[in-house]
Amino acid sequence: MKFIDEAEITVRSGDGGSGCVSFRRERFLPKGGPDGGDGGKGGDVIIKASSKLHSLYDLESRRYFKAQNGKPGSGNNKSGKKGRDALILVPLGTMIKNLESGELLADLVFDDHQIVLIEGGAGGKGNKYFATSTNRTPRFAQEGQKGTEKRLKLELKLIADVGIIGLPNAGKSTLLSRLSGAHPKIAKYAFTTITPNLGIMLFNDDQALTLADIPGLIEGASSGKGLGHKFLQHIERTTILLHVLDIHRSHSGDILTDFSIVQRELALYHPSLANKDQVIALNKIDIAPVKGGDLEEMRHMFSSRGYECRAISALTGEGLDELEKALHKKVFTASMV
Ligand code: GDP
Ligand code: MG
Repeated sequence: MKFIDEAEITVRSGDGGSGCVSFRRERFLPKGGPDGGDGGKGGDVIIKASSKLHSLYDLESRRYFKAQNGKPGSGNNKSGKKGRDALILVPLGTMIKNLESGELLADLVFDDHQIVLIEGGAGGKGNKYFATSTNRTPRFAQEGQKGTEKRLKLELKLIADVGIIGLPNAGKSTLLSRLSGAHPKIAKYAFTTITPNLGIMLFNDDQALTLADIPGLIEGASSGKGLGHKFLQHIERTTILLHVLDIHRSHSGDILTDFSIVQRELALYHPSLANKDQVIALNKIDIAPVKGGDLEEMRHMFSSRGYECRAISALTGEGLDELEKALHKKVFTASMV
């Protein structure tokens, strides 16, 4: 399935049903009073977040949503039925904006979180409603109120606990698949991940962390190199970052430079990203020997800069228990403040 993180749709609420003009006609009541019922309310436009969706893909094929009109009232004081609502399901993290003005109408971040975007038109009153002591037989009823239409822009910014970042080929997707049940594309060449992947990591059987693997960053991503840095929008809202570094084939020949390249791109996108709490994973410890200084030295380098740092092999699974614990602890403490 394609990953779509933007969509434009048009929505329209239902018209209210019209009120009814009717008079009671019974066998022994030749001049019965008015009994025209009210029209039903038009259906609302409702938008709802669902954790089962991970993309705005469904909205590519369907861009127009209209709620049903209310049914007209009828004789014998019968009200018309309310029109069916139009329900639009979106993934968690979807922001709904007015297409023309850009105004933010809703930001849906919890499962089953829903809002009524537009109310349906009110039903018209039947002639019964207009009967007074001076006009006992009103021959008119009210029209239903028209529904309203809005053009919307939907933007998805994934909500995950941990955003996985790093240069291409560092092993981010391999790590995601190891830590969770996700099956991202993994390969030796750069940019196999061209769209974000989400995975769920179970911890102690009853707690779960969601992880987002985004396409690798390269130097100059902020100016459009590689896949650019548009995908960073998906880690804007993660609680912490997991920075994966390849201790061998380091991009620049020096692990600290590799680290700084990514840091700089984060800061260029938004300073708040670079300031997010990070856990560092020194990956590929299964390949020996380590070029350019030993592992302890690297660990010390990052620890002394205040980072939580773990040496791992995403391939063999070595060190992953420790990494999971570190992630869990960081997410937990970060969400406490
Ligand atoms: P990404 O671009 O950061 O998502 O990197 P991938 O997960 O696609 O991995 C890039 C390459 O590195 C693949 O060929 C992986 O098999 C390999 N790789 C990832 N982690 C490890 C590891 O811990 N040890 C070894 N030896 N290779 C790894
Ligand atoms: Mg990848």
